[in-house]
Amino acid sequence: EAIPVDSWHKSVCRFCGSGCETRVGVRGGKVVKVEGLQEGWNRGRLCIKGLLNREILYVSDRAQYPMVRKNGQLVRVSWDEALDTAAAGFRDAIAQGGPDAVAFYGSGQLFTQESYTANKLFKGGIGTNNVDGNPRLCMASAAFGYKSVFGADEPSGCYDDIEHATTFFVIGANMAECHPVVWERVRDRIRTAPQTRVIVVDPRRTPTARDATLHLQIRPGTDVALLNAMSYELLRTGLVDRAFIDNFVTFRKGTADAPPLTLEDFQKFLEDYAPEKVADLCGLSSAEIREAARLWGISQAVMSFWTMGLNQQTHGVAANRMMMALHLLTGQIGRPGASPFSLTGQPNAGGGVRDTGSLAHALPAGRLVSKEKDRHEMEKSWGLPEGRISPNPGLSAVPLFEAMREGKVRAALVMATNPARSLPNADRYREGMEKAFLVVCDSIFPTDTAQMADVFLPAAMWAEKEGVFSQSERRYHLVQKLVEPPGEARSDLEILVAFGERLGHGELLKARTPEAVWDEWRRISAGSTYDFTGITYARLKELPGLVWPCPSEDHPGTCHRYVPGKDPLAKKEGRIDFYARPDGRAIVYLSEQGPFREALTSDYPMTLTTGRRLEHWHTATLTGRIPQLQGIDIDYLELHPGDAAVMGVKEGDWVQVTSARGSVRLQAKPSMRVRPGVVFALMHSMKHLVNAATSDSVDPTSGQPEYKVAAVRVEHV
Ligand code: SF4
Repeated sequence: EAIPVDSWHKSVCRFCGSGCETRVGVRGGKVVKVEGLQEGWNRGRLCIKGLLNREILYVSDRAQYPMVRKNGQLVRVSWDEALDTAAAGFRDAIAQGGPDAVAFYGSGQLFTQESYTANKLFKGGIGTNNVDGNPRLCMASAAFGYKSVFGADEPSGCYDDIEHATTFFVIGANMAECHPVVWERVRDRIRTAPQTRVIVVDPRRTPTARDATLHLQIRPGTDVALLNAMSYELLRTGLVDRAFIDNFVTFRKGTADAPPLTLEDFQKFLEDYAPEKVADLCGLSSAEIREAARLWGISQAVMSFWTMGLNQQTHGVAANRMMMALHLLTGQIGRPGASPFSLTGQPNAGGGVRDTGSLAHALPAGRLVSKEKDRHEMEKSWGLPEGRISPNPGLSAVPLFEAMREGKVRAALVMATNPARSLPNADRYREGMEKAFLVVCDSIFPTDTAQMADVFLPAAMWAEKEGVFSQSERRYHLVQKLVEPPGEARSDLEILVAFGERLGHGELLKARTPEAVWDEWRRISAGSTYDFTGITYARLKELPGLVWPCPSEDHPGTCHRYVPGKDPLAKKEGRIDFYARPDGRAIVYLSEQGPFREALTSDYPMTLTTGRRLEHWHTATLTGRIPQLQGIDIDYLELHPGDAAVMGVKEGDWVQVTSARGSVRLQAKPSMRVRPGVVFALMHSMKHLVNAATSDSVDPTSGQPEYKVAAVRVEHV
């Protein structure tokens, strides 16, 4: 039976970084229906999480009132008392330890205006670069990869490339479950062009791998070796684009300003990565590696997709660089269907956090805190005296929580995320959260992190506030305010402004409405490689999003970055212009696989890797509360039936997974999905702390932790 609706409004899904566009029906001050927008890139499709966008607004645990901890208990107080207490805690911490004794830990689920304002308040107002967030846990290695290879972050292609690709190379991404609507577009392509090939690289036989022409069931954490071996093979067989390499590529080792090397140097470096030399390490046959290289090399247009499987390892930046290198060696970039394409996990990790520079090392629009010129530009834009922004990069996620443990960071504001459950080696960092003065802002109460708060501030959710989200293809969308938040909940932007005022930074935060902050941010983007001056509120209200660069109000947005004639920032003539690099050339890095950070031993002989399933999201603070999803099992450990038989473990038996850091008990699910020696758990479990066992080793460049590779033992209990 049709649900009566008073009015329909355009919006976007609150969950993953696919960014599916929605039509939202409102009646009587309530959201009553959410469906896919036919004119959107998603062609009206939504996955089950998207269809449940309405339900998350009305779950029973919506946070409604501010609270302050008194005599060990969080008790309801007025907004004034909560904000005064929060500000007093921060002032005390600054008085004792200086500005770097406080921190902001944000989220790819905040609106762009919210992350931008928090970044400005902490870096420009309080004077600390301790601004980081959960995107450090999911996309940092991709961001550092893009920046080091192309000089600018974010992918160069767009979803329309899917209709032109002849080969899809999917590595470290279970798109059928984690980016299902993008995957349906890939499947549309396969259905209409049956000659399309799909190569999937994943230690599990995922639903994505079921559609593969070739599935490489790789040993976790060996992606750099595989991608080097494919490069070796492409060069050996001549399946490279020599003209593209000669005109648009340089070779370097280590950093972007290292001395240039030659193609011959690169080939010599790759001799150690011949397929037969790395096949055992990767757990593959040399024939499989050669076939993957051949399928890539003979393809007209290759589109690669990757996400956490590649990023969440201590070689994450190297793996990202090598993914981009395969495209550069073969000229598979800047043509329809030819694009390296990382998929973002959250609805606004790209636009909200990466673009606004809301990470400890960064400043807005690609600027860095370590560069004097960049700091001065931002000080001028924010009306601050020269020298106000600290030249020292702040603490990224893992060291930040370690500094709380050590008492160096004494107070932190955590917004829209649940680090007590999502951090690796979580028990260690829970100690830090217990110790610090913690202000937690969330739309759900309780969460693991909220329960540790000294001050809890209730936040509005997607349709209860206004702001901009940006998804994986650099498309910005407006999320309109359609209904009132529950109880006394407020938007995160209002909360940040009120908190900043109490700390004496009201003058800095003069832009206070979502539209005013957006306009300020548009002006700051002008002239940068992120230019989206032309993405006005008026256009966002009318159009199904706009893709940057978009430097003027009559510009339609850019599908293919760096392509003269298509990208308004590409000024040179010719096939491509990597304009964010000083010499106009992208870099192929000589990237070593390097040793495993955590070798398998007789005590810890198996590898734990983690991931997601279709119906749930992240630590399930939202999806775990939706009645329709409650019966779905998220508490199991997949292990190979051969390994299970050796242990005498049957389906449903309890097993204990122990790493050098901690243990978690889960129910066994013997499955051919995983390769022998590898076990897999979901990050969603609300009953069991899977992250007690995961590894907090980080990539030395990006600071991203290695969730995907932990040495463990599994015992039948
Ligand atoms: Fe939402 Fe992602 Fe599902 Fe699209 S694919 S409906 S963005 S969760």
